[in-house]
Amino acid sequence: MAKKDPKVSQHNVGLKLAKELRKEIFDFLQYNAVSVVMDETEFWYSSVSDTVDRIFKSSIRVSNEVMKPLYDMLILAKERLGFKEPIDLYVVNNEAINACAVFSFDPKTPHLIQIFSGMINTLTDEEILSILGHEIGHLMGKDAEIDRLMDFIYGDSLDKNVPRFLRKKLQMLSQLNEIRCDRCGCIASGTLEPNITSQFTQMCGVNHDRFGGGVQGILSRCSSNIEMIKDGRVQLHNSSHPDDPIRVRAMEIFCKNNDKKQMEKEMEEIVDLVQLWHKDNMDKHYADFIVSAGLMVANVDGKITEEEISAIINDMIEYKMFPVKEFKKIAKKDIQKVFHKSVAAILENCPFEKDNLMKYVLRMMVADHHIKESELRFAYRLSKDVFEMSKDEFSSCYAEVIQEFFHPRYVL
Ligand SMILES: [Zn+2]
Repeated sequence: MAKKDPKVSQHNVGLKLAKELRKEIFDFLQYNAVSVVMDETEFWYSSVSDTVDRIFKSSIRVSNEVMKPLYDMLILAKERLGFKEPIDLYVVNNEAINACAVFSFDPKTPHLIQIFSGMINTLTDEEILSILGHEIGHLMGKDAEIDRLMDFIYGDSLDKNVPRFLRKKLQMLSQLNEIRCDRCGCIASGTLEPNITSQFTQMCGVNHDRFGGGVQGILSRCSSNIEMIKDGRVQLHNSSHPDDPIRVRAMEIFCKNNDKKQMEKEMEEIVDLVQLWHKDNMDKHYADFIVSAGLMVANVDGKITEEEISAIINDMIEYKMFPVKEFKKIAKKDIQKVFHKSVAAILENCPFEKDNLMKYVLRMMVADHHIKESELRFAYRLSKDVFEMSKDEFSSCYAEVIQEFFHPRYVL
């Protein structure tokens, strides 16, 4: 297969959607303001110090004197990628087929790459070059910055406090970053084949040189797996890395195209698959419900205020990647129709949700701590006509919401 022109490749490694996502996440987390404080603290060093300590204690550093062939590969990969910052490469005695990179935020300290002996003993030189290129790609893209930011903001509560939409965005960005780093692997090794065969070895742990067969076999197997993903016979995994067939196809597209436009066109299929995997159909219906119900409640008094719109958009955050854009799109439609369609879809999927939908309407209604009779009449009508609730069912939803919003106070 044709050799990739490194000059062209270097300008083409990033994916447009990844850049947009990264910007959006950074804006959402107020990166510019936070980084001023973050840069002044040493919290990140303490948070990665365990990993770094472990690498120092359990691994051997590669140099011009020790494991020179590996050292030369690191120099070559850096050269081909045009990356000049210092990197220390460590080898750990571990049979797993794995490698990782630790970004150094201190300009005086080199970045680290750790590569497992299982990988070195199973892969060819070109395959190792592709792995080193991939890890250097993470350093070049400063991918650790987002981990540092998340760690700074959420700390120990990372698992429970990160909103659903942000989790999805981070996971999608991580998958797109992996595709970008695979491209760096292609540049470092110079041709497509070692990237595909090293991926094969990472999938099944088997030395490709001895047992793998031709690269073409892996490519066509991945193509048919992609067809299965597209028509729903196979579900993609919930992971920070894209599924192997997607990675293989993305590398194939990258290596065979030196024309950026053509490459982007062919990559649309891959980017669509990554996005499709993150799409949850029920999310769409919930977002439709929130916007349509929210606008209907807000419009009972004949005027929709800015505060009401921002409250609706805020509620959408859990369900939509781009809530403002989605709000505008949904708000342009026939709101009554959107409302009834979304309620029908949600209740068909889960009939017990009717209480929660009703309570959402009531919460919107009491959000300004002032219940108007017209709003109450509107909510009651919905409970009867749309949710087919009895008076008792409506009353208990109403009482629950009132209890949430209006805490009884003692007068002393
Ligand atoms: Zn990676």
